[in-house]
Amino acid sequence: LFAGPVDFVKGVVAMEGLPPPDRAEVCFAGRSNVGKSSLINALTGRKNIARASNTPGRTQEINYFTLGDDHYLVDLPGYGFAEAPVAVVAKWQRLLKAYLAGRQTLRRAFVLIDTRHGIKAVDEEILTLLDRSAVTFQVVMTKADKVKAADREKVLAQVRAALQKHPAAYPEIVLTSSEKGDGIETLRAIVAGIG
Ligand code: GDP
Repeated sequence: LFAGPVDFVKGVVAMEGLPPPDRAEVCFAGRSNVGKSSLINALTGRKNIARASNTPGRTQEINYFTLGDDHYLVDLPGYGFAEAPVAVVAKWQRLLKAYLAGRQTLRRAFVLIDTRHGIKAVDEEILTLLDRSAVTFQVVMTKADKVKAADREKVLAQVRAALQKHPAAYPEIVLTSSEKGDGIETLRAIVAGIG
């Protein structure tokens, strides 16, 4: 599906470090522990490719991967961790805002939401930032295997309702389980179709 290599490219800590904007890119965001690394591994078919971005020191970087020759996959640091020093958080937020507002080749953000939890206040912050940056975002529900079908519907209803107030939200929600493989092919096709 992705013609060409899937590889880790680099971790970026400042706008000057971004790779040349020579292809479409999509970014992945989500609170820590939402299942982002697992999803990126499943999506790329590379077992530990996203581990780099979870190692200490890498956590405040924008991590670039190639998805074949035509796309970059951008892994944004997990949010919602209160432990980071204020100055570190402030520096990261400046970079994130600059990236979202200024990256011409960024086509869509995928925001990961745990199917057990739905959209929380910390998620709302990033959704609002995406609205303000005019970056279209699509919600990807993770760990769907952990929730019974009836409860999934309740969470999906909550998410749909929450998305009503976000102009940048893409209406289709993707339900995934990296563990079972559900929704992975769908998500792969969505990303591959983004030009
Ligand atoms: P990250 O911090 O967002 O990168 O989250 P990880 O990918 O490291 O996942 C956090 C935890 O959730 C790990 O223990 C994973 O094994 C687990 N996990 C991730 N995805 C799934 C899933 O689809 N189903 C289940 N049951 N567990 C998952």
